[in-house]
Amino acid sequence: MELDDEIVAIWPLAGFDKTLHYRVPASMVAQMSEGSLVRVPVGRRFTLGVVVEMRATADVNYSKLKLVSQVLYEQSIMTRPLLKLAEWMRAYYGAKREAVLETMIPGPIRQGMSPKRNKYVSVGEKPSLEDLEALACRAPKQKALYDFICQQFKPQKKSLILERLNLSGATYNGLLGKGFIREESRIAQRIAYQDDIGKAEFADEELIVLNEEQKVVAKSLRETMDKGGFATHLLHGVTGSGKTEVYLNAMQAALDRGQGILFLVPEVALTPQTVGRIRSRLSRYADVQTVVWHSHLSDGERLDAWMALASGAAKVVVGARSAVFAPIENLGLIVVDEEHEPAYKQDETPRYHGRDVAVYRAYLEGVLCVLGTATPSLETYRNVKRGKYGIDRLTQRVDDRALPMMHVVDMRQEIARRRKATQLSTLLVEKLRNRFEQKEQSILFINRRGFSSSMMCQDCGHVVICDHCSVPMTYHRSDETLKCHLCGDEADAPLSCPECKSNKIRWKGMGTQRIEDAVTKVLPKAKVVRIDADTMGRKHLFREILGDFRSGKIDVLVGTQMIAKGLDFPNVTLVGMVDADLSLHIPDFRANERTFQLLVQVSGRAGRGDLAGEVVVQTFTPHADPIQFARRGEVDAFLDVEAESRERFQYPPYRHLIRQVFRGPNPDKVLFFAEQFAKRVEAKLGKRVELRGPVPCSIEKMKDNYRFQVWYFTSNIGVLMAELVGIAGTINWPSDVIQVLDADPISLS
Ligand code: ADP
Ligand code: ZN
Ligand code: ZN
Repeated sequence: MELDDEIVAIWPLAGFDKTLHYRVPASMVAQMSEGSLVRVPVGRRFTLGVVVEMRATADVNYSKLKLVSQVLYEQSIMTRPLLKLAEWMRAYYGAKREAVLETMIPGPIRQGMSPKRNKYVSVGEKPSLEDLEALACRAPKQKALYDFICQQFKPQKKSLILERLNLSGATYNGLLGKGFIREESRIAQRIAYQDDIGKAEFADEELIVLNEEQKVVAKSLRETMDKGGFATHLLHGVTGSGKTEVYLNAMQAALDRGQGILFLVPEVALTPQTVGRIRSRLSRYADVQTVVWHSHLSDGERLDAWMALASGAAKVVVGARSAVFAPIENLGLIVVDEEHEPAYKQDETPRYHGRDVAVYRAYLEGVLCVLGTATPSLETYRNVKRGKYGIDRLTQRVDDRALPMMHVVDMRQEIARRRKATQLSTLLVEKLRNRFEQKEQSILFINRRGFSSSMMCQDCGHVVICDHCSVPMTYHRSDETLKCHLCGDEADAPLSCPECKSNKIRWKGMGTQRIEDAVTKVLPKAKVVRIDADTMGRKHLFREILGDFRSGKIDVLVGTQMIAKGLDFPNVTLVGMVDADLSLHIPDFRANERTFQLLVQVSGRAGRGDLAGEVVVQTFTPHADPIQFARRGEVDAFLDVEAESRERFQYPPYRHLIRQVFRGPNPDKVLFFAEQFAKRVEAKLGKRVELRGPVPCSIEKMKDNYRFQVWYFTSNIGVLMAELVGIAGTINWPSDVIQVLDADPISLS
């Protein structure tokens, strides 16, 4: 044992939340730093761990400390701010440290996968004349190899040279053994920069000159960056106002200082155009490598991309939620595009919100975070009003293009007049026809938040519900089946009502298929294509459809709101929203906000080219606030009205909410534990917390588990979360009751 071995503190990636101490052999110290991934012995096994402190002091007997066994990578895989971020996430989201680290460090790295390496060869020691003569007569092949390598200007790949000269490994090794050539191994990058996301739809564009409004915003962002330090700015720009150009301008400022950039989008596959545009523009900087981080990467690509960021070979990452953990040193800017998107929230432990983590990371790094959107979330809007965030506005579309005119069709009147249920109103049909004749394009959106294609009996009102989950099953016409989208259960569609035996059981609501049929009926000559969950699953098909739509091969595109994000097609002059209010009538205090966002985003797809756009919104509640404010394009006014109502009920963002869900196969037992838990919280915290429940969740049963919830309102989430986690730790949970805590929940179903 060496008394001068260094001591390091480590967070193990194992099921306990402790910091452990180890000794590091002197030979290993140089390979290690804060954030290194190491293998260490724990009991009789080995586990991975992240080094959190070098030169630590431990209050245990030095001689009892074990040695670190191995350092996995040359680069540290977490930067110092990321280590702090991990601790914050643990406290805020009430998650185990291991769960947090598993989320922050990509799988292939945790598995210790090594980067692929290639061997490169160059000249070594200079042989004497005698050596060369000896080589020429005794080993002519080695001589030929040597001569060839001498002619190269830079190290060449070993495998290529041997192939080219048709030489064996033995010849190579013989020469290598003599020291006349030198070999080095280099990391081969299976890099995702070459990934084709965004390319098919994206054509190179000429240099863009910022307009006056954009210039003002870009200047404001640059000034904030020049001042240095942490700041958050909302970039509130109407759809089509050119937010991306402003981001790019700020990104350029960071790159000019040699700093790195984190650019977050809600989902890479759904925002191919934004991702494509950013990447193509940055590719003009020869020395800047951009990593696109998304769920379709292979393990090898994942490893290489992360390592490229950790080593500084790549400085920019464009990606979804988890890219917020990219190990970029010297970060200069964080951009969160479409900050209002619910997709930023992870729905498994740790249930973090990508936007909020991004803001906190910006705070830890002392840099600017830009949150961009046309429809700010109430959370962000409140932070602007409180003066915590700055705000920059883009009020005009580029090139003075008009925002589309929105028509609201009252479907109650429509049905009364035509005396039958109908999917497409007279106005929408008329406008669709007109666009088709003018050779312009249309998009029809379906609001998928409602359960839009279930089966309902017209006589008794019975709806077919999944036996394992308390949700209506979805009708699939292609194979005449009903499927549950929660548990995947499948059944044949019934021919008569299981309740009253009436044969008037029908397919209710409007799936994408049904709208596609209705459009085909009124426009038999038009090319109508549908994008739904199936299409989305197939990356190439999705891209192909977008490509065909762009090139004008498709006249009408039918899809769910999933495709509403970020699409930019200049020839689209009509957007129809078929069932605007399905998202209004759900038990969620964000129902108004979501409906409003949806309408504004959807109508933002119209009139992005030289032709003006129009929007037709079909609704049964034409006077609802979200619909009227969206029609008038009054975002601030909507936010003010909505903020007032949230404040009245003290809903988020006026207080924080922690939602706790209890689930298990035995409803009485689950409820019992929920009640016990709530009682303990009340006993311990009294008036310091407002508690509601336990009550059944709106999806009472999911995958044969009964679900109950308790809501806790608080002004200090960290304190309350610590109490709740503490109380959960004192309860002896049976194996068939699971409880989950969700801080700032987005899904309330
Ligand atoms: P937003 O994200 O605000 O909806 P985008 O950034 O997608 O808007 O920009 C909309 C379109 O306008 C894009 O095709 C973009 O290339 C173009 N654009 C942006 N800024 C300018 C400009 N200053 N001059 C000309 N075209 C621009
Ligand atoms: Zn019936
Ligand atoms: Zn089910």
